[in-house]
Amino acid sequence: MNNFVYRNPTELIFGAGQLSHLPEKARQLGSTVLLVYGGGSIKRSGLYDQVTAHLAEAGCRVIELPGVEPNPRLATVKKGIELCRQERADWILAVGGGSVIDAAKAVAVGVPYDGDVWDFYLRRAVPEKALPLGTVLTLAATGSEMNRSSVVTNWETQEKLGASTTFPAFSILDPTYTFTVPRDQTIYGICDMMSHVFEQYFSHTPEIPLQTRFAESILKTVIENAERVLEKPADYDARANLLYCGTMALNGTLPVGVETDWATHKIEHAVSAIYDIPHGGGLAIIFPKWMRYVYRENVERFSRYATEVWGIDADGKTDEELSLAGIEATEAFFARIGAPTRLADYQIGEENLDAMAEKATPFGPIGNFKQLTSTDVREILRMCL
Ligand code: NAP
Ligand code: FE
Repeated sequence: MNNFVYRNPTELIFGAGQLSHLPEKARQLGSTVLLVYGGGSIKRSGLYDQVTAHLAEAGCRVIELPGVEPNPRLATVKKGIELCRQERADWILAVGGGSVIDAAKAVAVGVPYDGDVWDFYLRRAVPEKALPLGTVLTLAATGSEMNRSSVVTNWETQEKLGASTTFPAFSILDPTYTFTVPRDQTIYGICDMMSHVFEQYFSHTPEIPLQTRFAESILKTVIENAERVLEKPADYDARANLLYCGTMALNGTLPVGVETDWATHKIEHAVSAIYDIPHGGGLAIIFPKWMRYVYRENVERFSRYATEVWGIDADGKTDEELSLAGIEATEAFFARIGAPTRLADYQIGEENLDAMAEKATPFGPIGNFKQLTSTDVREILRMCL
């Protein structure tokens, strides 16, 4: 196991009715709040009315940044930064999915920074200060509610980049808010959280049994609950378990002491930067192909994945055969839940393979399980066509 420092300061407030904690949290964070939300789902569900009522109860003055796009855009973030400065916001409340939370994180670190917030994403600066941020999560997927990363798209340069920004001070997760997540977004969320586990599970770091079993437990729990929520979107326990899995998959628990990978996320971001496709949909296409491209680097890890996660009988099979069986099981699962399987599903052909391969590797080779150059990335994308 490698050395590590483990710290996660986000207070997770989980379960039905837990929005009742909002006034007490609001009072702690200040009297003027920037409320950040997306394209209207929280208005349709009634959550907007509940949140604003709680903020009023706490005596907060509310200013708003509505209309955060899925794959949030830098221009929207900059609008939020301006608003916070003009109105002297004390803190930020993000109500929505990962896109809303990521945009709110960017605003939080952008407000006290003298330069361009995009510097953080270009790795030209590291955030030192941030406005406090709270979140009310409405979609199980990214883990953004309990981590410090933020992914933003700069449409002018067609770059989608992640940065380490700020942890939410608190996140309220009520599984009932996820009942209205449409079927396709539910599927994308499932693919995204599983991909987060894959990025941290496929590793060469030896002797990490606890991290390994944590990861396998999350994957098995997602697999068990995925079809339940798709059959019955208002199944509280299945939604709750999926929601908790999404958080645990990317809140810093899995990577401690482990050399993680993250190449597939970078490849997906390159695809999304040009085609603006849903993140989880892109991952469902790319991850199995990445697995096929890299599994020979460590067939023991991949054969363990097949037996422990998918319950494939190891009897009489070589590690190579088991590895392939595990990858096939992954592909079959994604297909069964209705995830996209090829770039063609998004009408993406070979026209931009080179551009995407370059965009995926802006700072040089990516990944650790197998280091990938832009030529490797091009080949993986070609397999995805
Ligand atoms: P999202 O982009 O936040 O939301 C997708 C869609 O779902 C939106 O149209 C949204 O509508 C709708 N929606 C959300 N909650 C809903 C609900 N309860 N009922 C009905 N509709 C609902 O999806 P996401 O998968 O959570 O976030 C994806 C983004 O996060 C990508 O940019 C991805 O790259 C990034 N990401 C971040 C991290 C991280 O650690 N920070 C990790 C992985 C991915 P409204 O806009 O109307 O609300
Ligand atoms: Fe992701």
